[in-house]
Amino acid sequence: MAETPEHRLPPGETPMSLGIRGLCPRCGKGHIFAGFLKLAKRCDHCGLDMSFADPADGPAFFVMSIVAVPVTIFAIWLELGYEPPFWVHLLTTFPLLIISSMLLLRPFKGWLVCSQYINKAEEGRFGPRQPPPQA
Ligand SMILES: [Zn+2]
Repeated sequence: MAETPEHRLPPGETPMSLGIRGLCPRCGKGHIFAGFLKLAKRCDHCGLDMSFADPADGPAFFVMSIVAVPVTIFAIWLELGYEPPFWVHLLTTFPLLIISSMLLLRPFKGWLVCSQYINKAEEGRFGPRQPPPQA
């Protein structure tokens, strides 16, 4: 696949370096977020149309996969080591789970949006039927 100038990252940048900072994949200066997780309609610097961006549940999947193991290990360690009442888990494990997930969601979403841009990833579509290959 030939890379067009439209889909090049700024020099020295990667989809991850731009995405975790929430910066536009085309210019590297504008912002891709209009809220905490809501994507902007256009880059506020270069005007890149962000309609291509649809990471769906990708960020949530990565964050759940990353956060679940250490938080579960912490909960088991706390339970087996101290046998605390349930409310201690509500005050320690539950906030740890929520806060660590919230901290990672935005960088992961930014990274996936920038990766979508550079890889021209889009939803699969059905095209016209192709004749079967001749044997
Ligand atoms: Zn831009």
